[in-house]
Amino acid sequence: MIALRNVSFTYADSDYGVKEIDLSIQKGECVVLTGPSGGGKSTLTRVLNGLAPHYFYGRLSGTITIGNDDFTQKPIWEISRQIGSVFQDPKSQFFSSELAGEIAFATENYGLAHPEVVRLTHQAISHFKLNSLINRNLDDLSSGEKQRVAIASVYTLNPEIYVFDEPTANLDAEGVVQLKQTVSDLKSSGKTLIIAEHRLSWLDGIVDRFVYLKDGAITWEKTAKEMGKLTKKQRDDAWLRSSTPIHIPDLPRPAGQGSPLLSTTALSIKRGRNTILQNQNFKVWPGQIISVTGRNGAGKTTLALALAGLDGKTSGKIEILEKSTRRLKRRSRVWYSSNETGTQFFTNSVSSELLLTQNLTESTLEKARELLKRLGLYQYKDSHPATLSGGQRLRLSIACGLMSNREILIFDEPTSGLDGGNMNIVATLFRELAKSGKSILIITHDGELIKRCCDFSLPIA
Ligand code: ADP
Ligand code: MG
Repeated sequence: MIALRNVSFTYADSDYGVKEIDLSIQKGECVVLTGPSGGGKSTLTRVLNGLAPHYFYGRLSGTITIGNDDFTQKPIWEISRQIGSVFQDPKSQFFSSELAGEIAFATENYGLAHPEVVRLTHQAISHFKLNSLINRNLDDLSSGEKQRVAIASVYTLNPEIYVFDEPTANLDAEGVVQLKQTVSDLKSSGKTLIIAEHRLSWLDGIVDRFVYLKDGAITWEKTAKEMGKLTKKQRDDAWLRSSTPIHIPDLPRPAGQGSPLLSTTALSIKRGRNTILQNQNFKVWPGQIISVTGRNGAGKTTLALALAGLDGKTSGKIEILEKSTRRLKRRSRVWYSSNETGTQFFTNSVSSELLLTQNLTESTLEKARELLKRLGLYQYKDSHPATLSGGQRLRLSIACGLMSNREILIFDEPTSGLDGGNMNIVATLFRELAKSGKSILIITHDGELIKRCCDFSLPIA
């Protein structure tokens, strides 16, 4: 029912996008767009839901038909009644601060009569079992709950087609289980689903067909059955992640000999009036890579920001090399890479971002070049960070950490939006860095990454 014929889209402010896409999707089918980061998955979802070119400007050519309608000629408000979109970061799509208002937003926006708005909103709330959350502030919901609200608000308009762009990128294990249930219910009710995704294992049993995008073009398509037959080597060569669930390995808490590089004693952290973490005691030694794990909302980012001296009011002790180290001092010794890469960059090109805090010697330039090449960003060295894909921005953020000469580095969900190949490259870089005596803390839910490079784990309850 959806047919794309020779569709190309190039962003106005870069030379990239998708090209010569031929793709047919049947009613009720679940198609997963996968492939290396920067391959064009998000761009293709934006072409489908009209965001490209209506919101992301650029040049679109080819034809897109849904049923007998030519979609390239339709205004975006008409497209979005038929195609509901759910993005990676549910926050970015909220218009309201309270749950019912958010769910009602789409129907209100389309000018439906008030009784109809109320009816559809209640129906969506009960369908997605959101009754118990109705009085909570949207900001206080877990990422999984926010994602459910985002889907519920799309559901009110009853679109035939749902487009998801990396819906699991910010979810913990429990959130992924909830999302899987929601998505499989949509599928059972006959909806057509198009999902851009790296994490493949949760889609088992839902997906009908995989479409692989690389360098903006479709390189191959496989049915779920054919995909299941790929060997480990074939998957690795295609930079795919595991299609079976990876259990997070059980790792010990950090232990070591000699002076710890970082230690906390009776550390408690407040943000605003709320005490987020209490009585944290741990030590980290040079050369260790430690996963910081825990459900969404447990306080992992709060801990990271406090350790790096960036936010939070702390009591108790934070020591670096057994010396109590104040907040401002910590800023120059602890690196923190956020996963909110939308707002994190300061300059207008990839290379100046990387060299921002560096003395421009031949050796730092060489180091920067090598990092960009290893992380597949060299061809983007003059691009504006805002024009990078999500996965490319994540890698730039990691590269900035690796360039910094800090002894302690904290990465917040560094691989949530990365394909298998890039995840392996990042894991290798972390290993090399640890070998040179640094301590690395990685806030992550990524079982594959933990398996590849972490020795210890710090669970935050
Ligand atoms: P994926 O979702 O598979 O990671 P994208 O569709 O985001 O890939 O990216 C495809 C190409 O388009 C990349 O080369 C990327 O740099 C470029 N691109 C992505 N978003 C934008 C944007 N907003 N502006 C300009 N170029 C972009
Ligand atoms: Mg993407």
